[in-house]
Amino acid sequence: MGIIIKSDVEIAFMRQAGKIVAEVLKIVSEHIKPGMKTKELDIITGRELERLGARSSFKGYRGFPANLCVSVNDEIVHGIPGDRVLNDGDIVSLDFGAVYNNFQGDAAVTVTVGEVNPEARRLIETTRNTLEAGIAAACDGVTLGDVSAAIQNYAESRGYSVVREYTGHGIGREMHEDPQIPNFGSPGTGPVLKKGMTLAIEPMLNVGDWHTRVAGDNWTVLTADGSLSAHFEHTIAVNDKEAEVLTREVYA
Ligand code: MG
Repeated sequence: MGIIIKSDVEIAFMRQAGKIVAEVLKIVSEHIKPGMKTKELDIITGRELERLGARSSFKGYRGFPANLCVSVNDEIVHGIPGDRVLNDGDIVSLDFGAVYNNFQGDAAVTVTVGEVNPEARRLIETTRNTLEAGIAAACDGVTLGDVSAAIQNYAESRGYSVVREYTGHGIGREMHEDPQIPNFGSPGTGPVLKKGMTLAIEPMLNVGDWHTRVAGDNWTVLTADGSLSAHFEHTIAVNDKEAEVLTREVYA
């Protein structure tokens, strides 16, 4: 398929989708409290999507049964909302994509439930900042490897591992477009970024090592060693200098 360069009009549509993703994630995050079931977050997401006239990118994707992914503690990504009860001290990764006027937005945020310990808090802050390091590296003329290396270096220099088997991706009319965006790599390698490329950058950081396993539900991805994991994601449009973050309000 190749990497698709978007026109200004297409990016304007993606800005609308991104705004919806940001707004829904903010609302869902604000509802999280100890004692609630993760499926309640799916219900809130469905309600907000209806209000905003958008639909979930995830529901029905390869049979995924919910509007968003909810991954708790050692769950990295692709958790299915259900009867699991959130406890004081948990960390919860919310990953959500929406389609509006045929264009997609995709973002993720890891939030706390009640009072969490300092180690978990540091993991979340570092993962958030790792995403920002990746975004800061993404501009016209750099290589994809420059972005991947910026992410890897930021995370690993602070003592965390980056998940290798799951990556970011191009995004536009489709949720997953070329290129894949690994969270590790070598500077100066891979395709050159151009203004108008739209990318979902999404580092996943583990306290332990980067190996993963998939749960019996065939969706939920966990750390193989049971260590905590956090996930942040934004959809961006590459520019001459600073990239435009299309899903920025997620944790404003
Ligand atoms: Mg994504």
